[in-house]
This record gives sequence, structure tokens and C-alpha cells, in this order.
Amino acid sequence: MKLDVDVLRYLSKDDFRVLTAVEMGMRNVNLFFVFIPFLKLIFIINFLLIFIFLFQHEIVPSDLIGRIASLKHGGTYKVLKNLLKHKLVHHDSSKYDGFRLTYLGYDFLAIKTMVNRGVFTAVGRQIGVGKESDIFEVSNEDGTVMAMKLHRLGRTSFRAVKSKRDYLRHRSSFNWLYLSRLAALKEFAFMKALEEHGFPVPNAVDCNRHCVVMSLIQGYPLVQVKQLQNPETVFETIIGLVVRLAEHGLIHCDFNEFNIMIDDDEKVTMIDFPQMVSVSHRNAQMYFDRDIECIFKFFGKRFNLSFEECSDDIDDDESSRPSFSSITKTSGFLDKELAASGFTRKDEDDIRKFIEGDVEEDDVSDDEHDSELCQTNIKGFDSLYLDQEESTSRCNEEGQVVENLQSPEVDQSGDPESQNLSSNEGDENDDTELVKSLAKQRRRAMAAARKGHHKNSTSRNYYKDKGGKSSNNSKIQKQLASW
Ligand code: ADP
Ligand code: MG
Repeated sequence: MKLDVDVLRYLSKDDFRVLTAVEMGMRNVNLFFVFIPFLKLIFIINFLLIFIFLFQHEIVPSDLIGRIASLKHGGTYKVLKNLLKHKLVHHDSSKYDGFRLTYLGYDFLAIKTMVNRGVFTAVGRQIGVGKESDIFEVSNEDGTVMAMKLHRLGRTSFRAVKSKRDYLRHRSSFNWLYLSRLAALKEFAFMKALEEHGFPVPNAVDCNRHCVVMSLIQGYPLVQVKQLQNPETVFETIIGLVVRLAEHGLIHCDFNEFNIMIDDDEKVTMIDFPQMVSVSHRNAQMYFDRDIECIFKFFGKRFNLSFEECSDDIDDDESSRPSFSSITKTSGFLDKELAASGFTRKDEDDIRKFIEGDVEEDDVSDDEHDSELCQTNIKGFDSLYLDQEESTSRCNEEGQVVENLQSPEVDQSGDPESQNLSSNEGDENDDTELVKSLAKQRRRAMAAARKGHHKNSTSRNYYKDKGGKSSNNSKIQKQLASW
């Protein structure tokens, strides 16, 4: 799915309210497990049945969305239809009528939050595509261009690798959006900590949901570089980085020519941190050796540097490389910084389970994953220009100045309704009003569901949407399913 930020500008407050309600509905499912200890046995069984069912499918029932969004004049059905048209939600009526966020919907929520925070005001072209991410240029009010990385865990490429593995043990179901959010949080936390310890990494600007904003590296991935003035120096710098990381208690785990950027002055910057592990990891030595091996191999092949590892003689090989055991490692050195960024041990456990292949994908259609894949367009690094002059600002109802988001191709006309972009992350301070009101609605919806009153209030909204012809959910299901 292409990230067309033009659509974002034409989404109304209600659109975002409902989109946020879908996200909250999905989070509800996770939150439920937190409350289990406080529920009586009979409720536990009831709720377990309902929520395990939801948890496995990650589909939020339409009526729950209606309750959470609780639009003043009804209209959830119409809004959902619009969101569906723009592929921001996915409709599923296979087991019950419901919706879930798509990556595009999640993108929009994250982008809107970033815009509200003033992190950036414009989104430009796509500059990179990784195994599990898309990278775009973004620009702030001053015209500073940065990089925005949208994590996309669960891509086909990754799944292809996973399907080759035999990881059937301890399988658990995780939501791809949740995992992508963890990957982003981890990347942000590590980038910040590494920067503070003087490592050459991009400057970590901000993080929300599955989105990380960082400084733009004016360089090229090493894999694209055919010639270097000083290959030996660059090689030594890179190997030195692996060693210094280990001294700080960390192993990159994906340290290769794709994740090392190099500029015209042959300055090295390392990127891509979601898979980093501690030196105390049970496979630390293997990961360390693999990182070292990648660099030796690449420099040997690409720049004809001759190392002893080029021969097949293992003894020679060992004598020429940094050895994991001889490095003085400081485990837990960065723990404080990581915790400060909100990245917890549980987050780490969850994401490691996925990276190490212990996670079973959830019920997301292949079509959608595949279509979200590969529609990327890397145009290289020649033109980093974002047309700032085209970015217009205007005032919303509250008198705040809001910049239009735009892609280079779009015009400057702004949709007044898209001005109040907001976030719903519980730990965010922005848009607290919307978060509060939706949280209240969510509590009410949960309470009503417990009492079994859910049909009435939902049908009220739907009744209005459909011109008063029907308030019956099954009819809505039919209509939604036929889109
Ligand atoms: P993945 O985790 O999916 O492998 P990466 O973080 O490695 O994603 O990024 C993929 C590509 O995007 C990189 O190879 C690089 O070309 C580009 N890229 C990533 N971060 C930046 C950045 N901060 N500045 C410039 N380009 C970047
Ligand atoms: Mg990468």
C-alpha cells in the first residue's frame, strides 16, 4: 500500500476519531489481560472466551467501534466506509462484523501525532526500503529534512524466511502492529543511548507507534559504494565499532553493508537497531562473530582487502579477528538510558521472540501484506529537496497554526477538517482531550457490553447513517461486506 499523505489532508476529525477508536479497540484486547486478576471467576471465563477470540483475530467489532468513537450525531458507519475506501481499515465479517487497522491506517495515526507535536510538517518521497520498513523524507517548519522510518514487521520477505524455519514450539500470537511499535520503540531507545555514548548513529528525534523520526544521513548504504579512497581505514573504523559496541554490552546482530551508511568524506554511520542484543544473550558470541564475518567478507570481496579469513584456514582466520572472549564487556551499560526511553524488559522479550522466530503471525490477509510490500520506489539520494514553499499553514478553529502535510506531487489546498490531527497513545500528552473522551467511551462500551445492552446504542448510530431505514447490525454487515 502506498503512503499517500494527500489522503491524510482530506480526513476529517470524525475520520480520525473513528480510526483512533479502531486502534483503541485493538488495544482493548491487550488491556483485558491486565484486568484478569481483578475479575471474578465467572466473568473470567466469559471474558476469556470473548477476548481470546478477539485477540486471535485482532478484529474490533463494529458496534464496539461505534461505542468508543461515539460520534455526536452518529455516522460511524459512513466514516468507516470512508476509511475503508482509503484502505485505512480492513473489514472482516468472516466470524463477526468488525474492522482492524491496516498499516496505512497506523501510518496515518503516527504521522498525525508527529505533526501535532511539531516534529515535522511535510512528508516527501520514499528514500529507502528495508526488509521490514519504509523510509521517507520528512521536513519540519525550518525546512530541516529528516528521515522517517515506518516499521513493517510481518512483511512477506520476513515471513518467507520464517516459514523456512521450524519454530513451532512455544508459538504465541502477536499483532504485527504491536510488534512494529516495539521495533520502533527499541530502535529509538537504542539510537538515543548509542548517540549519548558517542557512537556514529543518526540523531533520534522522536518516536510514536511504529514510526521513528531521525536525522537524515547524507550518505549511501555501503552496499552501493563501489570505490573508497581509504578502504582500510573505513574497514578498521567499522570493525572498531563492533568491538566498541561489545565493550558497551551490545551486539548489533545485523551489522552489514546494508546497515552502514557512508558519506563523501568516508564517514561511517550505523543504522537499524531493532535486533540488537546484549552481550549476555545466550547466542552473543555467534552474533558477534557473524557481524565481524560480514564485514570481513564484504571488504574482502568489494575492495579486495586481503585478510587471513579469505583463506579457508580456520586457525589463521581466528588469529586475525577480534575475539569476543577477549573483549572486556560491560553488560547493562546502557540499561538506564534504554529504560528512560520507555523500552521495558517485557518489550524486549516480546520482540526477541519474534526476531528469533517464536511468534506466529496473526490473522492478517496475505493479499494485504503483499500489496503493502514492494510498492516502494527508491529514487536514490540525488535530490533531497522537499518543496518547502509549497507547504502552507493555516489556522484551525482553536486558532492554532497547522501546517499542511503534503507529498511533492500534491497541490496546496488544505482540508479544514484535517487540521486537528491527534494521537491516542495512552502515554502521549498530545490530544489528551480526544484520548480522554475516547477512553471514557471505551469504558462505557465495556460496561455496556458486560450488561448486554450493546445492541441499542450502536443501532442508533447506524439507523441515522442509513437514512432511518434500519437499525439492524446484520444489514450493516451485508453492506460493509459488499464493498
Ligand atoms: P530495515 O530495518 O528495514 O533494514 P533500515 O533502517 O536498514 O531498515 O533502512 C533501510 C534503508 O533506508 C537504508 O539502507 C538506507 O538506505 C535508508 N535509511 C535508513 N535510515 C536512514 C537515515 N537516517 N538517513 C538516510 N537514509 C536512511
Ligand atoms: Mg537494514
